[in-house]
Amino acid sequence: MLTSPHTSARIYRVALAVPIFSLFDYLAPDDAPVCLGVRVEVPFGKGSKIGVLVAVAESSTVAEAKLRPIVRRVDEQPVLVAADMALLQWVSRYYHYPLGMVISTALPAGLRQGKAAVLPRARYYALTEAGRGFDALLLKRAPQQKKLVEQLQGQDGVISEAELALGGSTWRAVVKALQDKGLLALADAPEVAVRAFNQQPGLACNADQQAAITAVTESFGQFRVFLLDGVTGSGKTEVYMQLIAVALARGLQVLVLVPEITLTPQLEERFRRRFSVNIALSHSKLTDTQRQTAWLQMQQGECAILLGTRSALFTPFKKLGLIILDEEHDTSFKQQEGLRFSARDVAVVRGQRVGVPVVLGSATPALESLYNAEAGRYRHLRLPKRAGEAVQPGLQLLDIRNQRLQEGLSEPLLAAIRATVAKGEQVLIFLNRRGFAPTLICHSCAWVARCRRCEANLVIHRHEQRLRCHHCGSEQALPTLCPACKTGVLTALGLGTERVEQLLGGLFADKVVVRLDRDTTQRKGTLEQFLEQINTGQADIILGTQMLAKGHHFANVTLVAVLDVDSGLFSIDFHAAEKLAQLLVQVSGRAGRADKLGKVVMQTRRPDHPLLLALLHSGYHRFAQTALAERQEALLPPFSYQALLRVQAAHADAPLQFLAAVVDLLAEAASPELLVLGPVAAPMAKRAGLFRYQLLLQSTDRRLLHQALGRLVPQMEALKSKQKVRWSLDVDPVDL
Ligand code: ADP
Ligand code: ZN
Ligand code: ZN
Repeated sequence: MLTSPHTSARIYRVALAVPIFSLFDYLAPDDAPVCLGVRVEVPFGKGSKIGVLVAVAESSTVAEAKLRPIVRRVDEQPVLVAADMALLQWVSRYYHYPLGMVISTALPAGLRQGKAAVLPRARYYALTEAGRGFDALLLKRAPQQKKLVEQLQGQDGVISEAELALGGSTWRAVVKALQDKGLLALADAPEVAVRAFNQQPGLACNADQQAAITAVTESFGQFRVFLLDGVTGSGKTEVYMQLIAVALARGLQVLVLVPEITLTPQLEERFRRRFSVNIALSHSKLTDTQRQTAWLQMQQGECAILLGTRSALFTPFKKLGLIILDEEHDTSFKQQEGLRFSARDVAVVRGQRVGVPVVLGSATPALESLYNAEAGRYRHLRLPKRAGEAVQPGLQLLDIRNQRLQEGLSEPLLAAIRATVAKGEQVLIFLNRRGFAPTLICHSCAWVARCRRCEANLVIHRHEQRLRCHHCGSEQALPTLCPACKTGVLTALGLGTERVEQLLGGLFADKVVVRLDRDTTQRKGTLEQFLEQINTGQADIILGTQMLAKGHHFANVTLVAVLDVDSGLFSIDFHAAEKLAQLLVQVSGRAGRADKLGKVVMQTRRPDHPLLLALLHSGYHRFAQTALAERQEALLPPFSYQALLRVQAAHADAPLQFLAAVVDLLAEAASPELLVLGPVAAPMAKRAGLFRYQLLLQSTDRRLLHQALGRLVPQMEALKSKQKVRWSLDVDPVDL
């Protein structure tokens, strides 16, 4: 490269976590070796910030006199190597989000703040000679000690402090007691993270499972996407585990993503029973330190498996060999604030860049994924039958028109519940609304409790005697008298899980009713406790929100009831039908998993609705075909590409002024291939005190759409009306 005499100074180009679409230039120290991907501390305004060195340049567009030197280099070794950085740069370009903010999303909090990127020196323990031959039954009065000895006897006998800590907070005392007994001692670190890994052999697979395992195994070491399309209970998880075993045997690391934090404990437990390797976890309930440790462990190859939710996707790996995404249809994989990325789509891009297979698993694949499979971009692997003996449950629509309802439950449904619990089997009742009731209304003057900051009703939480907004979190005491007319009686309208729980508690006083929703599982450990109660048969009736629909195994459930199908049938968002179909199939997948025949009852006032009938008579795949045909007709995704520009402001007119200017900007570069739809008020026109509007851009040509966005973003930043609003761009939105 040629250097002109005037620009001999070396410039560090640094990505900072600020909402500005450019890198920041600083003077590099003269003698510093260049190492991209290290963190640096740089002066910023009156203070300083931690950023990541992204490029080194010979010159800057900023006058040299204005350039300031960096304060210090934080790392010797890069925290992000070239491949990691390249992925983040792709994400920044694709989602039109500043690189510094993307990097900041990818880094654990500690690293973001400049903490040292070092792992605590891991200590390992192993059984002594005496410990290996010890009869663990002699420890039956000290169950934790017994468990650890048994665990170590069952594998190659080395365990790290990190793994011990995952077993519970008392591990130090357990270790000390075993050391005092001469059964356990400090040990050398194992050579590689992937040690003797098979704790338990895999199951003998059926032909479909075997075909899937073979197909993916043959593709190790190269990029290929597999859609593992298998009904609930068909043994997808078994396929994942056998594929993980292949990766581990080759010394490769595996990334496993699940949509919801509530799914990590059961999968973790299955993995731990099967493999005796370090498993790192990454999700939002962990402490910053735990997440940073997981991040560094994967980066440095100390852990073989990372199990996490969408944010775990950006964890750097030393030797990534396989990516698995379970429940790939789940929209929780799409982040809904900040960097609005789709973990599924970025996982595919990551697999492509690193050259590893990506397995997308689901019983109800997303329409996009089915389309990609049909188009030959993904390899379609099907597991059409349930593994083992279990049969698919029978679906039944229950017409509740003109039926007497008790808190939303019809008499035939109540009879079915009675019959099921009488046999000692479990019932699962699904209602996707938490709280007692969604509306509090005055019986005299029709006053309704509304949120002052949102275009929404306040939800009654009767147990706590509170009214709560589920959108902005504001709350107040539950009034006893109508605040408007001061005389009227207040009535609860509609159904929430709390209300149904109350009814069931009364009707089935001698049975155990468990309610699973965000309110009852807030405290750490409560979800696990409930799941335990369900799995050990202590619970008779399980009631819950969509939390129940996701991947849990309830072997003794033989009746599933969906109380309110209809509220999902009417929506202006074209995604709604797909989501409802997935939800219904997923919920019904919870029934009759083992040897018992399951039944699914869906209460509806629209027993003739085409969507319900298609699902009922032809199943999810036929529904998906019909829905895809409709989308093709209307040129909706996946037959076109969308980006949603959302704008909000404290003043009602500001968003519309801003969007009018945006429409003008777009008109300058108008193309018949680029549709500009709107501006329109957002589905919730006011939220948390802010007025919200949106503009939808759509094109059948993805490149064209992105070119337009690439031009638009800096232009929007320069608009004067920008000062009064906050905007965000949602590429490939899943919620309109
Ligand atoms: P999915 O992930 O598709 O819901 P799982 O892998 O959890 O399915 O399997 C469902 C149940 O079937 C589990 O209890 C599992 O142990 C069992 N199972 C899976 N594969 C087999 C097999 N090949 N033979 C016998 N049982 C199996
Ligand atoms: Zn009133
Ligand atoms: Zn509100």
